[in-house]
Amino acid sequence: MTDCLFCKILAGEVPSEKVYEDEHLFAFKDIYPKAPYHVLIIPKKHIATLNDLGDDDTELAGRMIQAAKHLAKEAGFADDGYRVVMNCGEGGGQIIFHMHLHLMGGRTFKA
Ligand code: 5GP
Ligand code: ZN
Repeated sequence: MTDCLFCKILAGEVPSEKVYEDEHLFAFKDIYPKAPYHVLIIPKKHIATLNDLGDDDTELAGRMIQAAKHLAKEAGFADDGYRVVMNCGEGGGQIIFHMHLHLMGGRTFKA
């Protein structure tokens, strides 16, 4: 997707602060952090929203959640607790239409 910001970040056309990368995933710091630690975990495959997640993407979705857990442990706030969020569609507050998981930690979140 040439007009997708996160695909451009994956391609290195737009700079980002990488925190994790493997064959399937890429994670980088959110440019407008809403917590002391705020990272976005994205699949390397362009999937616009959760609604577009295919039946064969189940393992990929699981990898995103596992990555969140590992990064939370690595960052040191896993035991204190943290927030993992995925916005879907305009009504869900999604602004960038390349599916992503927000991982936020380092502060206390209220319901
Ligand atoms: P959404 O609202 O789509 O779930 O979240 C999109 C997130 O992407 C927002 O938290 C926003 O701060 C972040 N974001 C938008 N543009 C950029 C950018 O160019 N670089 C980085 N690192 N994050 C971005
Ligand atoms: Zn994309």
